[in-house]
Amino acid sequence: TNVAELKDVWVRFRNEYALQGINLEIPSQDYMAILGPNGAGKSTLLKVILGVVKPEKGEVRVFGEDPFKNRKVVVENIGYVPQKENVNDKVPLRAIDVVLMGISTKKFLFNRNKAMEKALKALEYVNLRDVAYKLFRELSGGQKQRVLIARAIVSDPKLLLLDEPFSALDAYSSRVVASLLRKLNQEGKTIVVVTHDLAPILDSIKRVALLNKKLIAVGKPKEVLTTEN
Ligand code: ADP
Ligand code: ADP
Repeated sequence: TNVAELKDVWVRFRNEYALQGINLEIPSQDYMAILGPNGAGKSTLLKVILGVVKPEKGEVRVFGEDPFKNRKVVVENIGYVPQKENVNDKVPLRAIDVVLMGISTKKFLFNRNKAMEKALKALEYVNLRDVAYKLFRELSGGQKQRVLIARAIVSDPKLLLLDEPFSALDAYSSRVVASLLRKLNQEGKTIVVVTHDLAPILDSIKRVALLNKKLIAVGKPKEVLTTEN
């Protein structure tokens, strides 16, 4: 089954198209990298799946539902790591506070102890249990990215969307994050990563999509990453 499907999706901002007739199916358990130049519509594609950018034309299905109409399906099934870290650094948030943001307010208020337990478990998963009570803004770039991954997985979503998760990381931290993603995929999560840097995930991804407003190619890395593309 497909966790997400886009059929002839067109997105326009003012008089310019960011996406032009995208047809894409993301099967369950997939691990897909989306490559393309700046301004190719990669972030926009993730936001269409998240139901926060509305296509002018076309059909979007996420777990069989329209993500614009059914927000519950998005909130319950998708974890998102945005390109910009989007944590207010003027507020003294600890790592665990950032992870707690991945739990709905309703669930948090219903059982705070359980929410805390889940947040600590997610931090443990990314190997950051020991910095749970440290300030987020004082962590290293690699630690911050892992906290954001913990926030994305804390509610146990089936689909993970990551926008340039390696762009601020050195080679070592990139490998650490890449091995986390590989493990998450092996444990059954479907993963879509927008990235400029394929190196850290080249040996773990199952498919690559080349995007430049249109979908140029989709397939196994060996098939897509030829000199033709
Ligand atoms: P990429 O992630 O591949 O760099 P984006 O999806 O961020 O590309 O952007 C694709 C194009 O759409 C760019 O020209 C960008 O400036 C434009 N764009 C993206 N979001 C908006 C928006 N909310 N309003 C206007 N233009 C936008
Ligand atoms: P993020 O991807 O984390 O939302 P961005 O810096 O890419 O952060 O964009 C911030 C907001 O501005 C987003 O809603 C994005 O869609 C929008 N945006 C991006 N490019 C443009 C643009 N060229 N003109 C107007 N809005 C844009």
